Amino acid sequence: MSWYSFIGIASHELKTPATSIHAYSQLLYEELAATPDKQSAELVMKLSEQVARLTRLTKDLLDVTRIGQGRENLKKEPLDLMKIIMEAVEELQITTDIRLAIAEHPSLPPVAGNQDRLRQVMINLLSNAIKYSPGTHEIIIRPEAGNGKVSISIQDFGVGISKDSLGKIFDRYYRLDDGGAAGYPGVGLGLYISSEIVRQHGGEIKVNSEKNKGSIFTVSLPVNDY
Ligand code: ADP
Repeated sequence: MSWYSFIGIASHELKTPATSIHAYSQLLYEELAATPDKQSAELVMKLSEQVARLTRLTKDLLDVTRIGQGRENLKKEPLDLMKIIMEAVEELQITTDIRLAIAEHPSLPPVAGNQDRLRQVMINLLSNAIKYSPGTHEIIIRPEAGNGKVSISIQDFGVGISKDSLGKIFDRYYRLDDGGAAGYPGVGLGLYISSEIVRQHGGEIKVNSEKNKGSIFTVSLPVNDY
């Protein structure tokens, strides 16, 4: 058995129990939160957070084995990226005080895409923008269409990325070791998975960044005629 297949099987097997434990821990938290026993509620909250991390990690590992090998047959349909970005913003806005501002609301031509996977890319880029920008107030999202492409750029004003690291951040398991990623949870798979998904849609992700000034990640996808 190859190393890839092993990771694939192991993460697939781990995903189901981890997802159940997470669901049970949330139910337990809700029960305890309604009692005077605040200490137990807090412990269960911590348990739930850690299980959520474990669940994310197993999902990421599974994605790496599927997507990284190009084995996944992406089912594509005409999609409105504006809708995907708006839903992702809505979902993440409740998790942060940083304002997720959509600068413009153009009507974008449809792209041929896989809804779940493109949603995953937007969530990943937005979560990174939030994670690597503590203490800042705004993240700006700019959707655009032109030259047969649709693009979405996500600008944060956070820790940024040094010139030396810019070329490596899409590599598997790469995390900035110059302090850029220290103290932030993660394993360095998100951008690798996102770039593979976008590549399998015929598009690309570009990054522009300056250390301590912030980063702009831009996803462009080809427009299809429908
Ligand atoms: P993770 O966040 O799990 O470490 P990713 O693959 O999503 O993994 O990102 C790889 C690395 O790229 C991160 O560890 C971080 O150092 C850097 N990075 C990603 N997004 C940003 C951002 N918006 N600002 C600064 N650094 C970033």
